[in-house]
Amino acid sequence: MTRRLGVLGWPVAHSRSPAMHNAALAALGLEDWRYQRLPVPPELLDETVRALPDAGFVGANVTIPHKRAALALADSASTAASEIGASNTLTFGAGGEIAADNTDAPGLLAALGFSPAGMRAVVLGAGGSARAAVWALREAGAADIAVWNRTGARAQALAEEFGVRTVPTPVPADLLVNCTSVGLDAPSDTAQGVQRSNSVELLASDTSGLNQLGLTFDALGEYANVVDLVYRSHTTDLLAAARVHGARTVDGLDILIAQGALSLEIWTGRPAPLQAMRAAVRDT
Ligand code: NAP
Repeated sequence: MTRRLGVLGWPVAHSRSPAMHNAALAALGLEDWRYQRLPVPPELLDETVRALPDAGFVGANVTIPHKRAALALADSASTAASEIGASNTLTFGAGGEIAADNTDAPGLLAALGFSPAGMRAVVLGAGGSARAAVWALREAGAADIAVWNRTGARAQALAEEFGVRTVPTPVPADLLVNCTSVGLDAPSDTAQGVQRSNSVELLASDTSGLNQLGLTFDALGEYANVVDLVYRSHTTDLLAAARVHGARTVDGLDILIAQGALSLEIWTGRPAPLQAMRAAVRDT
């Protein structure tokens, strides 16, 4: 019987996870494994997930808007998933029991490629991915974590829960992590946009995306490391501007690959073939 994996979301048509995971399964020689999209509306999540083990599913990734609900319906949860309050990885046991994990947090740390221990970090956003980022940075020993969010009350609630602080505007730091969706809709994915993203002059004068994050082009020069969780075919304006300042950057595709690799290792018990995953995700 085919061993099945998938990504639960609503909508989920945009997901690059099927291409990435099917390339990984092929590279591992797991020919009887398949990874597919699982478009499921919120009201059907519980019954769908419970039916998956009998349909041959070994596990599933979980994306917007189901990460909290996935944790709630699981029979057991890792420390990361329960403290973050969300799961992006479900694994089904032989008896159909559901284990919840969170690979978004360790995926972010893996994609960084350096330890944030002792660093001052600013996290932009207070949604689901900001929760994972704050938890990961705190666990990894960041010396100071400041949360900024458009809606200040959400930043305050997150900061209180995780024992970090909020700031009314982003402050200078060693590391900046964008966990908002700002940049997702910017037009840089077009051929014209790629040229725009690579143009210092245009970036310096067209900073509407940066401004939505409480930043200016010059203020971005205060961060030696800049991470953008937003992923798209070409770079985001935030990362393009950070590179002009000479910052080390990590993009959302790197993080997608890292969290996917950790999920795949949980399901298969095999080291993830990162090169095959990277090639598949960047070609999508
Ligand atoms: P979410 O829970 O919906 O949170 C969205 C956040 O973005 C909130 O803090 C929201 O602020 C902020 N925001 C939205 N529009 C804004 C605007 N115009 N100006 C300023 N702030 C704005 O979403 P999420 O799950 O955290 O995901 C956030 C982004 O990360 C998405 O683009 C998602 O695709 C990406 N992501 C990537 C990966 C990866 O593997 N690379 C993993 C997870 C998420 P308010 O509170 O004020 O509304």
